[in-house]
Amino acid sequence: MMNKLTQDMQGKVCVVTGAARGLGRAISERLAGAGAKRVYVCDINLAPAHAWLEQYPNITGVELDVCDPAALAQLSARIVADHGRVDVLVNNAGITRDALLDKMTASDWDLVLNVNLKGVFLVTQAMYSLMKVQMQGAIVTISSIVGTDGNIGQSNYAASKGGVIAMTKGWAKEFARGGAQIRANCIAPGFINTEMTRAVPEKVLEKMTARIPLGRLGEPRDIAEGVLFLASDRARYITGQVLKIDGGLVL
Ligand code: NAP
Repeated sequence: MMNKLTQDMQGKVCVVTGAARGLGRAISERLAGAGAKRVYVCDINLAPAHAWLEQYPNITGVELDVCDPAALAQLSARIVADHGRVDVLVNNAGITRDALLDKMTASDWDLVLNVNLKGVFLVTQAMYSLMKVQMQGAIVTISSIVGTDGNIGQSNYAASKGGVIAMTKGWAKEFARGGAQIRANCIAPGFINTEMTRAVPEKVLEKMTARIPLGRLGEPRDIAEGVLFLASDRARYITGQVLKIDGGLVL
C-alpha cells in the first residue's frame, strides 16, 4: 500500500521497466507512495502485476518489451498525450542466462545483451527525447555489483551491467549540456531477495550470505529507497554516480 513517509515524487510522471514483479514492483510502489502523479509500470508480461496494480490510483500498467522500438514510440506518444512530460525513468528490466564461458552460447550472450544493454539504450533514447525538451529529468538504471566486480558464470550479464554504468557516465555529461538539469545515475544491488536470486543454487546463496557484512540478503525495498532518493530533487547535484546497495558485500 501507499507509503506516505515522503512526498518526494509529488507531481512527477515516472516510467519503470520490468516492473510487474521483483525490484521493479517495489520501486514502482515506492514512487507511487511518495506522491507521483503517475507511474507507468512497464513489463513484457504484466500478468503478475494485475493483483497489486489496482491498489494504486496513480499507477498505469503497460505491456512493453524494452527491445521493441515501435512499442516505445507508442509509450512516448501516450505519455505526451496524458501529461506532456516525463520526470523519472527507472531502467530496471533485466534478465540472466548464466553459464561458464566455455558453455555460454552465442544466443544466450545476445539475449542478455539485447535486453540489459540495448534495451536500456532504447528506452532511455525514447524518454530522453521528452526530457530534452523540458531540460529536466532523472534517470536511474539498475546495474549490479557484478557490473563492477564480475562474477563466475556471468560473462554476458557482467558485460551488460558494466555497459550500463559506462553509458550512464557518458549520459551524465551529454544530457547536462546547455544547462539542462537531466541527471543519470546507477544503482548496483548486491544479492536481493527476488525470483532472479531464487534461481541461484541454495549453497551458492548460503556462501554469499555469509560474506555479506550486514548478514542477510537485501530486500526489494532496500533498492527502492535508493531509487527514490536518486530520482528525487534531494539528489539534484548527483549525476554520473553508481550507488552500491549490497549490505557491504563489495567494499
Ligand atoms: P525479476 O524478478 O526477474 O524481474 C524482472 C522483470 O523484468 C520481470 O517481470 C520480467 O518479465 C521483466 N522483463 C524481462 N525481460 C523484459 C523485457 N524485454 N522488457 C520488459 N520487461 C522485461 O528480476 P529482479 O530481481 O527484480 O531484477 C530487476 C533488475 O535488478 C534487473 O535489471 C537485475 O539485473 C537487477 N539486479 C537484481 C539483483 C537481485 O539480486 N535480484 C541484483 C543485482 C541487479 P518476465 O516475468 O516475463 O520474465
